Amino acid sequence: MEKLYIVIPCYNEEEVLEKTRVELKKKMDILIQTKKIDKHSKVIFINDGSKDKTWELIQKFYEEDKLFGGINLSRNRGHQNALLAGLLTVKEDADIVISMDADLQDDIDAIDEMIEKRRNGADIVYGVRNSRKKDSFFKRTTAQGFYRVMRMLGVDVIYNHADYRLTSRRVLDSLVDYKEVNLFLRGIFPLIGFKSDIVYYERGERIAGESKYPLGKMLNFAWDGITSFSVKPIRLVLNVGILILILSFLMIFYSIIQKMLGNTVDGWTFIVCSLWLLGGIQMLSLGIIGEYIGKIYREAKARPRYLVTDYLVSKN
Ligand code: UDP
Ligand code: MG
Repeated sequence: MEKLYIVIPCYNEEEVLEKTRVELKKKMDILIQTKKIDKHSKVIFINDGSKDKTWELIQKFYEEDKLFGGINLSRNRGHQNALLAGLLTVKEDADIVISMDADLQDDIDAIDEMIEKRRNGADIVYGVRNSRKKDSFFKRTTAQGFYRVMRMLGVDVIYNHADYRLTSRRVLDSLVDYKEVNLFLRGIFPLIGFKSDIVYYERGERIAGESKYPLGKMLNFAWDGITSFSVKPIRLVLNVGILILILSFLMIFYSIIQKMLGNTVDGWTFIVCSLWLLGGIQMLSLGIIGEYIGKIYREAKARPRYLVTDYLVSKN
């Protein structure tokens, strides 16, 4: 039996926490009684610099029931960082960790299946929502568009998977080696690798309070995801540069013909030729510089080049 820790980042969640606690208590009790998880399993709330009574509530939960625990961050650092803090803080104590949101939008009944898949050998189990019926039209289309763009840019993301996932301890040990500051966790886990599986669930509505991800934050997050994982936009600049340079030769050819045909006013040919040539050269140079910046970006991330899962060797 493995020891499960559930980590839950919370930002101004006083309205939902009580209900979340009751539901998770029920769930954990059943899991412990049916011997699916170790009896020392825990639910850990991470207070991400809330301005309301969230931390007081977490402290109260901890006082009343040792199933619950808390981590308090010094200030608001955003969902991804709060999640990372949770994962890395509990990893020494847990065998497996499940991350989820405080608002119970992630169906907690999927936990059973996640543990089942873990038993079958998965190191990462991704929770994937099988529909977005309960999301607004706007959220649905923007979110799905985002996953498509990410794929187009060559980033390995699991379609419709957010941050509801089970990870084993060795995955979290590997996560430590990803030191990037611009955190986009759902892009990192597929990079880490190991055997993974998927559990589908129905995404519910937020039980109370309102979304802590307004449009601005959402766009920021998406932009972070793209720019932290793909250098394709830089490639695009280089390609456009090459294209313009080719076009400029055509333009030069065209304007010389026009001049020879006498269709031009004085100076026109010179201006048009220099305009296109310079534009092309500038764009190309930007692209070349961009290529180097892309390399620096990869080096600066210092991501691990490989992770070993098994090493078989006989010592005689
Ligand atoms: N959250 C956080 N820090 C923030 C914003 C959000 O820890 O700065 C938490 C929040 O409390 C919740 C989770 O991240 O547990 C997801 O937020 P929310 O449910 O508001 O996002 P949505 O489901 O609307 O995308
Ligand atoms: Mg939510």
